[in-house]
Amino acid sequence: MLNRPVTALPGIGEKKAKTLKGLGLETVRDVLFSFPRTYKDFQQVLEPHEAQAGEVQLLHGPLLHLRERPISQGRRLIQATLGGQLGLTWFVFHRAPGPSFLYRKLQRAKEVWVYGLVKEGTLFPEMASPEVYTRRPGHQGLMPVYPLAAGITNNQRVNWIKAALGHLGELGECLPEDLLGRYMHRHEALRQIHFPKDWTHYERARERLVFEEFFLFHLGLQRGQRQREGVAHRPDGELAARFLAQLPFELTADQKDALRQVAEDMESGRPMRRLIQGEVGSGKTIVAEYGAVKAAASGGQVAMMVPTEVLALQMADRLKKSLGPLGIRVALLVGNMKPKDQQAVREALAHGEVDVVVGTHALITDKVEYHNLTLAVVDEQHRFGVRQRAALLGKGNPDLLVMSATPIPRSLALTMYGDLDVTEIRQLPANRQPVDTRLIHPDRRGDVYRYVLSRVKQGEQAYVVFPLVEESEHVELKAAVQEMEALQGGLLAEARVGLIHGQMGKEKEEVFQAFSRGELDVLIATTVVEVGMNVPNATVMVIENAERFGLAQLHQLRGRVGRGRKPGICFLLAYSHSPQARARLEVVRKSNDGFFIAEEDLRLRGPGDLMGVRQWGQPYFRLADLQADRELLQLAAEAARELLSRDPLLKGYPELAQELDYYPI
Ligand code: ADP
Ligand code: MG
Repeated sequence: MLNRPVTALPGIGEKKAKTLKGLGLETVRDVLFSFPRTYKDFQQVLEPHEAQAGEVQLLHGPLLHLRERPISQGRRLIQATLGGQLGLTWFVFHRAPGPSFLYRKLQRAKEVWVYGLVKEGTLFPEMASPEVYTRRPGHQGLMPVYPLAAGITNNQRVNWIKAALGHLGELGECLPEDLLGRYMHRHEALRQIHFPKDWTHYERARERLVFEEFFLFHLGLQRGQRQREGVAHRPDGELAARFLAQLPFELTADQKDALRQVAEDMESGRPMRRLIQGEVGSGKTIVAEYGAVKAAASGGQVAMMVPTEVLALQMADRLKKSLGPLGIRVALLVGNMKPKDQQAVREALAHGEVDVVVGTHALITDKVEYHNLTLAVVDEQHRFGVRQRAALLGKGNPDLLVMSATPIPRSLALTMYGDLDVTEIRQLPANRQPVDTRLIHPDRRGDVYRYVLSRVKQGEQAYVVFPLVEESEHVELKAAVQEMEALQGGLLAEARVGLIHGQMGKEKEEVFQAFSRGELDVLIATTVVEVGMNVPNATVMVIENAERFGLAQLHQLRGRVGRGRKPGICFLLAYSHSPQARARLEVVRKSNDGFFIAEEDLRLRGPGDLMGVRQWGQPYFRLADLQADRELLQLAAEAARELLSRDPLLKGYPELAQELDYYPI
């Protein structure tokens, strides 16, 4: 029955079925799993003197002082009191002569039940446009209110649910035994979510069903990930020891944890799927380097994919310095190399003459073959899609290490990367000084740029960033470019200034290069300043219209300065005077903890606005709310992981395996 079309329910013909389809309901099961939008609380009937402003109440009493008068063309105002102690008003449309339909209905009633929000009134409390009943509304407990469409009433939906609930027996319990001690049984939860006995039962039913949603979502994400055999790399030997010994600094505790986890993952026969989150400068690259050493020591190859050619170049240089002395052969492969050189690198890769290759998308084209790829590293995860990640993994059967400098709250990371284990590097290396961040009133803009010039005169460099939320918006781009040019020719006329924005082509890379070689003093850019871009000589950052950036994004941006010996300073120019805007910016000014800032950003703006989240799209949940139900999400993710580690194919849980087939991901 549950899998039959909605027409199997009483009173649903082809026409209604079509309307229901518009609501996303095609089968009886869909109807059962389409939950109330809200509830009406008819549990308590109160006397007029018990009316309490601010509460939604059902009140009962005699209807007095009833009158109706026209207030404008075709509109009438009906006023009355409930027992002389609660004011009641309704507006109705009525053009014809004589009293309105509602007025006549009320006139016949001696006593009424009204349901609505009570408000403070001048003489006594009032209700505006309450629902009115001439008989006691007959519903035990809370009355569900469903999303409706033309031609479908709430009563009909209630009846269909009742009919569908009659077939609950067909529905298995999908949670494993051990979780049922903690959560309501499925049948009971479905009954209570539609017709809660009281608010406590509602809460428990909702908790169970939200957990179920998250649990199934995670099983779907995680299942299949852990089934394949992976490479088992060798335990650390001489090469790893030499790599660790030559590090010019002491690793932080978080870095040590990360190395330990990576070692464990890489040595195990299960495929590694690990995300390392840590802000710019937290020392993630060491973790990737260590992984590369392990892979090379086991006779494997490493592919490291980064989003831009500039970053690829920087990374390849760095790895040549750190890994080259260990005898590890590092190569670069990017699209703007000469075809002949690219071909040479590809051949070396295919013959196993290169151990580590760093590159952009060029690494995943069809032409590239690896001799024995055992580790794939993806830097700046959010810049690549899942497909690109998959393409890289398809080049062999490598372990995967993903690095992200955009800290995302753990709860959200779990939803977005449910298939990855998450490692956080929260501690910054001890020698790192926080960027001195200041909120500046635009009146002092001139001072800020004079300060920039003074630092430039001492041989330091600066970034100026303009917001451009939608790069495609032509008008806005033009305005931003004009402002940037005005700055270049005005306040910053004495400095060597380069200008870049998202719609520039190849020159963009050239300007970047010139800036990183120190041939430019100031880089004026839209938000495209590359994530991970490393110019240690840059010490000052000015962010124009700071209020238009996300907090996580501001934190990212300022991480670009003070990466060398001299401390960094960041000016946030805010042109909005709203207290909320100020409060948001204060978070960034006061805190230097990227994870905390991301949490705050999530709290203040919701997950959709968090940098890097939008392009991933949000999974769809019927009942669950990513923000409000974060704890349940975490519990469900852990429960799913634990179950899959015991029983990867869910052989012992046929009902659950079957349930997953219904679950859309
Ligand atoms: P990320 O990749 O997270 O942006 P990096 O690995 O590039 O960070 O590290 C940033 C800088 O800090 C590098 O110059 C690196 O040598 C240095 N560094 C990394 N770890 C430490 C540490 N534990 N102590 C001191 N300096 C460190
Ligand atoms: Mg990095």
